Amino acid sequence: MADLLDDIAQRLKNDYDFKPPKGKHMRKGKCPQCNEKSLWTFADSPWVVRCERLNNCGWEAHAKELYPDLFESWTDRYQVPEMAKPPEERNPNAAAEAYLTQARGFDLAKVKGLFTQEAYFDQEADHGRGAGSATVRFAVGDTWWERLIDRPWRFGKKKANFKYGGSYQGRWWAMPGLSFVDLGPDAPADAQKPPAYLWLVEGIFDAISMDHHGEAAVALLSCNNYPEQALAELKALLERQGGTVPMPTLVWALDGDKAGRAFTLKHVERARAAGWKCEAAQIPQKGRAKLDWNDMHQRGRLEREHLDEYLYQGALLIARSALDKALLIYNRESKTEFDLSFNNRLYWFKLDLERYAKARDAIEEAISDGKAEPLSDEELREKAVREANVLQPIANCLPQALYYQRNEVTQEAWYYFRVSFPHDGGVVKGKFTAGQLTTASEFKKQLLHMAAGAIYSGSSPQLERMMQRQLDNIKIVQTVDFIGYSAAHKTYLLGKVAVRDGQVHDANSEDYFDLEKLSIKSLQSSIALDINTRTDAYERGWINHLWSAFGAKGYIALAYWFGSLFAEQIREEQKSWPFMEIVGEPGSGKSTLIQFLWKLFGRDYEGFDPSKSTSAGRLRTFTQVSNLPIVLIESDRETKTGGQAHVKAFDWDELKDAYNGNSIRTTGVKTGGNETYDPPFRASIVISQNNQVQASQPIMERICHMTFDTRGFTPASYESAKALEKVAIEGVSGFILEALKRESEVMTEMVPLTEQHTKALLATDGIHKPRIAKNHAQLLAMAQLMRRVVRISDQQMAQVQQQVVTMAQERQQSINSDHPLVQEFWEAFDYLNGIPMATPSGPRDTPRLDHSRDPQQIAVNLNEFVEMAAQHRQQIPVLAELKKVLRTSKARRFVDVKTVNSAIRTRSNQPTKPGNDGPASEQGRAVHCWVFESPSKPARKP
Ligand SMILES: [Zn+2]
Repeated sequence: MADLLDDIAQRLKNDYDFKPPKGKHMRKGKCPQCNEKSLWTFADSPWVVRCERLNNCGWEAHAKELYPDLFESWTDRYQVPEMAKPPEERNPNAAAEAYLTQARGFDLAKVKGLFTQEAYFDQEADHGRGAGSATVRFAVGDTWWERLIDRPWRFGKKKANFKYGGSYQGRWWAMPGLSFVDLGPDAPADAQKPPAYLWLVEGIFDAISMDHHGEAAVALLSCNNYPEQALAELKALLERQGGTVPMPTLVWALDGDKAGRAFTLKHVERARAAGWKCEAAQIPQKGRAKLDWNDMHQRGRLEREHLDEYLYQGALLIARSALDKALLIYNRESKTEFDLSFNNRLYWFKLDLERYAKARDAIEEAISDGKAEPLSDEELREKAVREANVLQPIANCLPQALYYQRNEVTQEAWYYFRVSFPHDGGVVKGKFTAGQLTTASEFKKQLLHMAAGAIYSGSSPQLERMMQRQLDNIKIVQTVDFIGYSAAHKTYLLGKVAVRDGQVHDANSEDYFDLEKLSIKSLQSSIALDINTRTDAYERGWINHLWSAFGAKGYIALAYWFGSLFAEQIREEQKSWPFMEIVGEPGSGKSTLIQFLWKLFGRDYEGFDPSKSTSAGRLRTFTQVSNLPIVLIESDRETKTGGQAHVKAFDWDELKDAYNGNSIRTTGVKTGGNETYDPPFRASIVISQNNQVQASQPIMERICHMTFDTRGFTPASYESAKALEKVAIEGVSGFILEALKRESEVMTEMVPLTEQHTKALLATDGIHKPRIAKNHAQLLAMAQLMRRVVRISDQQMAQVQQQVVTMAQERQQSINSDHPLVQEFWEAFDYLNGIPMATPSGPRDTPRLDHSRDPQQIAVNLNEFVEMAAQHRQQIPVLAELKKVLRTSKARRFVDVKTVNSAIRTRSNQPTKPGNDGPASEQGRAVHCWVFESPSKPARKP
């Protein structure tokens, strides 16, 4: 145990900045809740850390919650070292004993003999790799129950195991010392007396915890197990003894969660009907961890004063009427006015002191006149209170503040509420702004708006009193305004599921994620991901259809989707993640492919058309996801020459910085002050079009391109495409979870693989641009790493690799050469510019279109070019289309569009008036031109 405590002490020092221990305590650690240097713990047993500011903060945590990793390797830490000892000295229960004493805080002497240490193995655990664990096993009923103790998260939600086929229904587990047998007058003085109270708790560790504090307890093993048989046997035993041992009072002490509370009510009713005297006990649940009796034992909170509080909480739970409950509160807290809930309705209790005094006098008088039975002081008071109170219903539902959430960017903030209803148990959740919580009329409106039929009829002062209590030290939940991966929290937030460190977590009933020290939710609600977390629902057969329909290209597109899940981490390590372009004519199946890839991520979607949205709309789309692709599609837009003029073509250059994850442009999202917010680009870009993107070289270099066509389609591939269209999201959305479970492996191997492939690609013929090599190397690395999630053969992988190499070569080629329209332009230009000019002295061989005086440049007026082409009947591209791509001209690199001093007009306009260079003709020489570099242009003759 010493080395575990040393580990804990060491971490506490590092993480909370404790001063070196003085005497028995470590002090001055930094409290994570109030940020004061107010934490303390025991130097030699730092199991629990507490904030000493009890009234202002009161934070506390068990080392088990702070450092769960230290509490999960019992076999490695304690059983394995036993093997070094001679066989006769080995302790076969070393792991179990360590677990019970250290993870559960039990006294070994009190638990010896109650359990056995066993082993458990699950073939399917740990992502199908199989995993084993030591267990602590207890016999109960005709079965046994065992807790898995070694890294139990590997077994999914299953942390305990029952013997197959056995049953504990109607029974309980009891400490062996528990007995209701009448020992008679001759019993030894130190013999355990039959208890007057019997606690009924859920877990065996809860029961043992109670026993450590002298309370008799039995474990029901699950909250819905009413111990019918065990209670009947106990009753029979007591009856056989003729009442010498009185019936104990049953204290129903189930967990403080919804099920535990609901079953407490049911069990109490049933047991009372069977003649048992019943009470209840509840641990008040505040904060995020659900605490049980064993937690309370370990925190030193099972002393008499604490138990009284739990019994009070239990009494509130099982109160039979609103008035009974109000009186319990009144008696305990001595307030004369307060709100309370009963059966999911709100009430306001007020004691009318004048009426109370009168009622009390009247009762006392009746007693002294002998008209009433004498009463104790307490009874007298209660009777008077019953007569002198006002209990006013103030809402037909129960609104409860759950937590505070805030958008750090816009500084908007809300209180998130749950509203429960009395009858059908329905629940509605929603937000209130601060303003809506401050006056009764605003509160009433928002409540009614949020939850149908929910009416608040209380006053503003009542609301204020209620909110004071509810919002005191309210939980704060962190938020992000996008869906996907939050790099700051190293967590994927995917709708109702979150993944962190390969672990899948469901959102809790309050719609946020509880991840060890982090409470977080996404405010993004416009994108729905419907991810099926049931691993047995995931059908893996789709990969064969994908391959049959789309071959290696389909697999590569999938690898891009897969890689996009890690885009943020990749850009962190490697600075960039490429864009993917999927081109294909209508009917080539690209929509089928993209929609299917989305299904693997739980999304029913294809993409959005950037040219149909405003720049503000685009910005929203570009910033609302992280580590997910943003798919830009051309919806029914005509893209051929002569397309709809009112659709302004999307400027691909807008995307340039997204490659490195930088903000796409200054946005002007307002924060609280005058500042604007530039959200970084956290996603990836997929471009899906009928025709290839033509953009500036920087954009072209950032793209990995694939063209899909109908060549090679067979009836089988057609059937497979149809099958992919029909696949239901719930059957394949498990893919994204399978992928994210491998985050750490993928990220570890990504960097060396990318380096290796980059080198190999640069050594390949026809690839020399480092950026192109890197983009395709990353894609290839992902294609390779994805084999851990989907099965393809080595032969298929070889095809994938060949395809990626081809793509890199083609990309290099497309960057080297000019766009076909640009090529056409230069062909026409060269022809027209070279046509000899007719002059009075015969044809002269001078440039006809090139106005440039600089031999290193070419300057063309496009209108002249069009005019001359018409004169000479040359077919040329449509000017509007040409202008879009002319800037990409490479063979003669585009320089600028500007006004130049024409070399042609000097000669052609003024051959007969040499020397006359007046201002008017200067003007005539200025020509608006597109200017290009012309390194190979022959020097002009003087
Ligand atoms: Zn504190």
